[in-house]
Amino acid sequence: MELPAQRVPVVARCDVLVVGGGSAGLAAAIAARRQGADVILVERYGYLGGLASGGLIVLLLTMDDGAGRQVVAGLCQELVERLETRGGCFYPPKGDWGDPSAELIERYRRWGLVWGSAPHRVRYSVAYDPEEFKLVANQWVQEAGVRLMYHRWASDLVLDGDRITHVVFTSKAGRQAIACDTVIDSSGDGDLFALAGEPFELEQVHPWLWFRMSGIEDVEALQEAGGDGFFRTVRAGQALMPWGAAGRIDRRIDATNPDDLTHAEIECRRMVMEEVDRLPGQTPGFEQAYLTDIALTLGITESRRLVGRYVLRREDLDQPFDDVVAVTGHWTKYGCVYQIPYRSLLPQRIDNLLAAGRCISVDHRAHHATKEIPACFATGEAAGVAAALALRANLTPREVDVSALQRALLKAGAWLPDGADNS
Ligand SMILES: Cc1cc2nc3c(=O)[nH]c(=O)nc-3n(C[C@H](O)[C@H](O)[C@H](O)COP(=O)(O)OP(=O)(O)OC[C@H]3O[C@@H](n4cnc5c(N)ncnc54)[C@H](O)[C@@H]3O)c2cc1C
Repeated sequence: MELPAQRVPVVARCDVLVVGGGSAGLAAAIAARRQGADVILVERYGYLGGLASGGLIVLLLTMDDGAGRQVVAGLCQELVERLETRGGCFYPPKGDWGDPSAELIERYRRWGLVWGSAPHRVRYSVAYDPEEFKLVANQWVQEAGVRLMYHRWASDLVLDGDRITHVVFTSKAGRQAIACDTVIDSSGDGDLFALAGEPFELEQVHPWLWFRMSGIEDVEALQEAGGDGFFRTVRAGQALMPWGAAGRIDRRIDATNPDDLTHAEIECRRMVMEEVDRLPGQTPGFEQAYLTDIALTLGITESRRLVGRYVLRREDLDQPFDDVVAVTGHWTKYGCVYQIPYRSLLPQRIDNLLAAGRCISVDHRAHHATKEIPACFATGEAAGVAAALALRANLTPREVDVSALQRALLKAGAWLPDGADNS
């Protein structure tokens, strides 16, 4: 069938349009705004954070290299400080980072801050409360002067040659367009680069649904007595049930297919509720426990990944890049990092588009590390600063002087390897 042509009102204009308000989009919007750009951040739901809040994935894994050195700073570090002022997070103090002592490892494992295989060391990883994240994020974008637009779903775009002129959003008000100079695709699923016809890889994954229980007498005491499969949270008597139900659903799904998502929503919710019904009767300490919340969104580790100007590969672990704009440790490995090159944020053809977060240009194995929340913050921050610098110099993001970008990131507080700005 064909839809009749429709006139779509242009409801706003901006320098930088950030689509998707997860970790990456939040960082991109604030970073671009702090560099002086006029920024609109559009999110389909009514809260910021994406998986990092609504998905109940409430663990920043990790901000270090697994050997005691912090490698993600900038806006992610600022998030931790903002959460801390509200008592909304927990993390090992700096003096513990890199420490191999079994006692400390066990202490932090109970918070979900130790993963991978032994020998372990204490990491700079952070557990936090999702509602505190949402509040902090709203205040943060407002303070920064970002124009926040909730409840709009990017569904189309208008191209003039290789340039996006408008993104079209669908909402209860119908279809509306926003005109912009540069677009940052932080939709997690790469909706914008897919609409623009850029090449991508699509991964099918097992979906998860994290949930939390409250009314537990003493979570730490239970863990000391051997209780497993749940983590402490910043709220007394509350446990985070990572990954959701003990089992997983019958098949992998394509998270860009609504029929697959429907199947996953029904199955995961059924399985979580079976677990919620089972726990009080069968798990000592959970007798009075009750469900606090189930994640609002399915836990989708992977869907579309851009095939951009450079595809970061597993073999690139510990490799230096001249155009590094973000660095991430590996949550299951110690003492190694990925340097993320600027080219992994750049699509092949479209002039005024950048990708940030879990949909950047990496292979499946590198994605294991680059999808983590701190890394998403770091690539979001890099994309936001790059977009603003490009506008200021009247260049496309591809033409930006990478040394200038690295200097601007360092000045803003991001962490980059020594000499990254050629200084
Ligand atoms: C089960 C699971 C466990 C994980 N464990 C950890 C962990 O312990 N620690 C860790 O650091 N990381 C973990 N991760 C990874 C991490 O949570 C995510 O990769 C990261 O949060 C992704 O951030 P993002 O901003 O790229 O995308 P998302 O958080 O997915 O944000 C994308 C945002 O865009 C919005 N959006 C999407 N499409 C549109 C559209 N068309 N129009 C408008 N808005 C749109 C969404 O609503 C969402 O808010 C885990 C992931 C999963 C699934």
